[in-house]
Amino acid sequence: MYGLKKEWEIEAPARECTLEDYVGAEARWCPGCGDHAVLSTVQRLARDLQLPPEKTVVVSGIGCSSRFPHYMKTYGFHGLHGRALPVAEGVRSRRPDLDIFVVTGDGDCCAIGAGHWIHGIRYNMDLTILLLDNNVYGLTKNQTSPTSRVGEKSNTQPHGSFFAPLNPISVVLGIANASFVAQTVDWNPPHLYATIRAAHEHKGASFVRVLQRCPHFSSHVFAPVQEDFSQMLLMESERGVKLAEPIRGMFPRTLEHDPRDLSKARELADRTDVYPIGVFYKNDNASRYDTVTQQGLEITRAEKMAAINGMLDRFAVQGRN
Ligand code: SF4
Repeated sequence: MYGLKKEWEIEAPARECTLEDYVGAEARWCPGCGDHAVLSTVQRLARDLQLPPEKTVVVSGIGCSSRFPHYMKTYGFHGLHGRALPVAEGVRSRRPDLDIFVVTGDGDCCAIGAGHWIHGIRYNMDLTILLLDNNVYGLTKNQTSPTSRVGEKSNTQPHGSFFAPLNPISVVLGIANASFVAQTVDWNPPHLYATIRAAHEHKGASFVRVLQRCPHFSSHVFAPVQEDFSQMLLMESERGVKLAEPIRGMFPRTLEHDPRDLSKARELADRTDVYPIGVFYKNDNASRYDTVTQQGLEITRAEKMAAINGMLDRFAVQGRN
């Protein structure tokens, strides 16, 4: 592969990775913030799957949740607001051998990053995308986000959010070539783990919306759901997420849902009486753009230079004799 094994890649010695091998800087999120739960879940998943830390990358944009790469002892890129996906796609284009997680928030992904979000899903490159949705801009101290509910007061809309919130799951299910769409909650670790694991196993752009507690600015939003599990609908499937007892028994409402059924997935996503959690949709046959961008990675430096020079020569201006 050009630029990798042949020229400068160093093989790490075989070893057993422990949790400490994935734990980076001390997380500086507020106490009780749901981001802590997602971080420890990704660290446990990396340990369980023995992902080589030197071959794991976490890419983020801007926001509270986007501090995620600092707290993983892997490679990371804390990027520009809304631009996590194009950065991750660039990494994926040149490095098919890496495990790539994208961590974004509702402001980062669904507002300034919305264009990249739509086309990132459509291009379906192999990425595990985690949307940590707390319905508010937390880092910049309480502003209305695209997922804030009508009437939620903030510094930018002190009389309450004016528009109906955007539903990230419905949006993604409406994008052509979406291949994996799921929803989970940060306060149920087994479901959170099982969902992120299923997303990581899927080959393509796996989109997971995590309903995330923000005790500092929006604790009231998900508090009723944390206390009353009947406000969630556990979608189950062998093709999606299946919880073992006794965790499954915590959910009074369950539904067998085949994630190949896109119409049903859209119907479930639009429900407002309950939060469906699990895998809405999964398509293993969607086209992946990274299968295109990986072409030519095997060529040598000399072959690449010859190709570039050949292309430049086409535009050479010939002098008169
Ligand atoms: Fe978490 Fe909210 Fe604090 Fe940000 S402001 S770290 S989202 S609790």
